[in-house]
Amino acid sequence: MATPSELHFLFVPLVAQGHMIPMIDLARVVAGRGPRVTVVSTPVNAARNRAAVDGAVRAGLRLDLLELPFPGPRFGLPDGLENVDQISAVQRELYYPFFKSIWAMAGPLDAYIRALPRRPDCLVADACNPWTAPVCDAAGVPRLVMHCPSAYYMLAVHRLTSHGVYDRVGDDQTAEFEVPDFPVRAVGNKATFRGFFQWPGVEKEHRDVLHAEATADGVVFNTLRAVEARFVDAYAAALGRRTWAVGPACVAASIDDDADAKSGRGNRADVDAGEILSWLDARPVASVLYVSFGSISNLSTKQLTELAFGLESSGRPFVWAVKEAKSDAAVKAFLDGDSGFEARVRDRGLLVRGWAPQVTILSHPSVGGFLTHCGWNATLEALAHGVPALTWPTIVDQFAGEQLLADVLRVGVRSGVKIPAMFLPAEAQGVQVTSADVEKAVEELMGPGPEAEARRARAKELAVEARAAMEEGGSSYNDLTDMIQYVSELSRKRGLERETSSTAAAAVASPAAELRGKMNGEKIGADASLSVQS
Ligand code: UDP
Repeated sequence: MATPSELHFLFVPLVAQGHMIPMIDLARVVAGRGPRVTVVSTPVNAARNRAAVDGAVRAGLRLDLLELPFPGPRFGLPDGLENVDQISAVQRELYYPFFKSIWAMAGPLDAYIRALPRRPDCLVADACNPWTAPVCDAAGVPRLVMHCPSAYYMLAVHRLTSHGVYDRVGDDQTAEFEVPDFPVRAVGNKATFRGFFQWPGVEKEHRDVLHAEATADGVVFNTLRAVEARFVDAYAAALGRRTWAVGPACVAASIDDDADAKSGRGNRADVDAGEILSWLDARPVASVLYVSFGSISNLSTKQLTELAFGLESSGRPFVWAVKEAKSDAAVKAFLDGDSGFEARVRDRGLLVRGWAPQVTILSHPSVGGFLTHCGWNATLEALAHGVPALTWPTIVDQFAGEQLLADVLRVGVRSGVKIPAMFLPAEAQGVQVTSADVEKAVEELMGPGPEAEARRARAKELAVEARAAMEEGGSSYNDLTDMIQYVSELSRKRGLERETSSTAAAAVASPAAELRGKMNGEKIGADASLSVQS
């Protein structure tokens, strides 16, 4: 059996921030245990994640980025569109060619693996990258599937599907149901519990996702048993596959004292991290609310201004990552000018117009609350930093994140959002939370009182548990040890099987070599353009 340092892992994240970032965090954690890890990427995504990888290399870890060309232009996408966050809410028609392009990366990945002097020991694929399954099968590479959402959400979607609840409610997006056979009482509707790829036009891709998971050598969750053991175990039992909970991987980024790697996590920040830190240094402990809706969720202009007025009237200091300011002229006009929002809140509000160094901000002791869209990474980052949440979900798994934070862990205050804004009548203009609602919720979260104190205390306890899980002897540390050992054994076994079958194949002169040159209907081979960088 190979020792960890003899192992080579390939990580294949989905090209979306909420997937690339945790997989690079986890790649770093795995590299910290000895193996060499290569993260498969594309030019735009590699550039965004260069700082984090460079930081890991400076720390002596064997982590590198492989850049495969992104075939978007072949499917009609503009050159350079390589990440989900580059598709705006009004360009939904681009999703289909975008996913077609991702699927077409199988050829270059296959060529890369074949060109390696030694077969990798394991490929860890995002669950949304099922096109890696035939590549691994052909090359005899063990394959694990990693889920970037919570186990709570994945189990809920699994139960709703297997119990026929989605079928029963049909097209009715708002018919309320309770998730059957679930460890806790969870109520929602189709709009708030929609699964990934459960939308028209991607039925084949959805089948690929389910098949790739059902045939994987194991399943990895970026979570911790202290928070999600019931959901992880039920999911593992439902699927009948080895499953590991190895997170929260963000702890690795959080405790990193390499300031550049930390502030450049996921992208170059649109603000000087040092400036934010000085601003936070000047504020009392736990007094600042951090506001962010992640990488892809945008508020309507009307909803955004309601939020702004609520923050203004709350009187509390805040840092707000307003990415809409980069693309929405109306938002920019609202923020700008002598009597604009930014000028009015200058003494206590700091706006980041674009990408914020989120973990740098959340690590600061002055931050005492997080108004979050409840993406799973944001949720884990809130937990890992002991920061209670003001929950404001917008799409897919975020409503499950809100339930976990508010109902199960009791570290969240709800904003009052009920449903994704796309299901609201046009006259609502995307507004579900008024400025008065914002003001009230901010006060409930950040203000005094026994409930707020208890919430803060629970958040601190969870942060201790999150960090302990990742430390030597912690549950996630032990799960990762087990996962690496399992991979080592499996890789040796697969290698032996391959040797035996290739000897047999050579003896009967099969046409396998010729067949191996084709995959998914395309010609692949050493001529596929590749570049490996570290
Ligand atoms: N993020 C960041 N700066 C930003 C916005 C997001 O660093 O301005 C990071 C955040 O820390 C998280 C990831 O991007 O790790 C977003 O993932 P999440 O699951 O929270 O939300 P998504 O963007 O997938 O909706």
